[in-house]
Amino acid sequence: MRDILSSLGLQGVSPGAFGKSVLSSGSSSELAVKSPINGEEIGRVRVAGGEEYERVVSDSVEVFREWRKVPAPERGEVVRRIGLALRDSKAKLGRLVSAETGKILAEGEGEVQEAIDIADFAVGLSRQLYGLTMHSERRNHRMYEQWHPLGVVGVITAFNFPAAVWAWNSMIAAVCGNVTLWKPSELAPLTAVAMNSIAREVAKGYGFEGVFSLVVGNGPDLGQKIAADRRVPVVSATGSCRMGRAVAKTVGERLGRTILELGGNNATIVMPDADMKLVTAGILFGAVGTAGQRCTSIRRVLAHESVCNEVVSSLVAAYKQVRIGNPLEKGTLMGPLIHSGAVDAYRAAITRVPKEGGDIVYGGNVLPGMPSALYVEPTIVRAKRGMPLLAEETFAPILYVVPVKDLAEAIEVNNEVPQGLSSSIFSRNMQNVERFLSASGSDCGIANVNMGTSGAEIGGAFGGEKDTGGGRESGSDSWRQYMRRQTCNINYGDDMPLAQGVVFS
Ligand code: NAD
Repeated sequence: MRDILSSLGLQGVSPGAFGKSVLSSGSSSELAVKSPINGEEIGRVRVAGGEEYERVVSDSVEVFREWRKVPAPERGEVVRRIGLALRDSKAKLGRLVSAETGKILAEGEGEVQEAIDIADFAVGLSRQLYGLTMHSERRNHRMYEQWHPLGVVGVITAFNFPAAVWAWNSMIAAVCGNVTLWKPSELAPLTAVAMNSIAREVAKGYGFEGVFSLVVGNGPDLGQKIAADRRVPVVSATGSCRMGRAVAKTVGERLGRTILELGGNNATIVMPDADMKLVTAGILFGAVGTAGQRCTSIRRVLAHESVCNEVVSSLVAAYKQVRIGNPLEKGTLMGPLIHSGAVDAYRAAITRVPKEGGDIVYGGNVLPGMPSALYVEPTIVRAKRGMPLLAEETFAPILYVVPVKDLAEAIEVNNEVPQGLSSSIFSRNMQNVERFLSASGSDCGIANVNMGTSGAEIGGAFGGEKDTGGGRESGSDSWRQYMRRQTCNINYGDDMPLAQGVVFS
């Protein structure tokens, strides 16, 4: 790991403030980064102080003034090169993501691939930032809309996707003509410094190093500073619903814009006609993958009562095969949780299960004798509709299986939680599928068929409804959130006709 860190420029204490240049003086406070895999310190990052924050933001504003004038396809060329540079470092970055977050290597590398994919997507987008043309009601007039960059895009990210979420935002924001100010999770700042440095190095070659800025904080302070800062017109915040409420309040007070990507509480529906092979494989990855620490992790299985027992027994058999251990080792499917607070939340939920009328059918324990105290058993609970636990997102691999009598009840249960991120149905019946996807079906931002709720592709818009925050990132037309729309009216005639036929003389 030491070799990987130094080849990514992360030896000693890494700087934590990057504006037009790397700012290394200022704050003396350091963040020690410990790997959840074995509790060992893998690096240190200097926390950005108040003065450094000011420098970084004023640099960002200055860089934006020039960057916005660069033609979008040229900005795309910079992003294309960033994609290539990320490809060159994919294996190293993937290992770093795994070491810092505890996710298995395949997922660590997959996350870096996601950043590469979004860079490719953004390159194409750089030639497609189109507006509409409308017919004017006034003679000799033309009306159309165009899109301009917004300025400094604040990006606050969660620990569990320390590379991809920044890339979703910053690659798109860059081709749109914005600069990005990133405040990563204090739990995964090394990946942030490494990713951001790669992007900066490429941009530096074009004279625009400061398009990708970074400030590392320790706790919510810097996130709140960004939220309150009028020089940051849009704040994209990914994390818990609690954080989203705090950010939305602060940004809302200054009438700024937010893109909120918050907690999920995702369910999958299993109908009697489902292909059980797909059900087991889809739920296993969705519930156990990333140790249940994905916003899109499956937390609830809403199984038709006629197949509920079969679903539970096939999941128990599959869970028994899951190898838990060092996520850097081949064959491991589940690594540790991120920190002791996450283990406490797991334990607290498990303790509540019997009190709320649930039954633990598999797992439920923190594993002894592991390289750190953060390894837990993936857990299956037979649950009942109405248990308060079912409305909460416990960020751990706990799966609640709830029997339902029919599709109508399954959709009701799917929708009766505060969050609205992802959902899915397993069924080979077209009526079931179409009802689930209809306006009276799932109320989530993502609705999948014959697959689990996690593992989104970058081509689609990603995000959810209700307490998940309503934001959309990544593919489709999400780029519009990073731009301002301008409606233009041009009079090429010799008269001054007014709209709605108003005569003013
Ligand atoms: P978190 O809310 O604890 O922290 C997320 C980020 O917000 C961190 O950078 C943190 O420093 C910052 N932050 C925390 N409180 C803040 C405040 N009051 N003001 C400003 N910034 C603040 O989340 P986490 O534990 O890192 O991540 C797990 C959560 O993120 C889960 O709820 C998960 O569902 C969610 N998540 C959502 C998505 C999505 O796209 N919807 C993706 C990944 C994670």
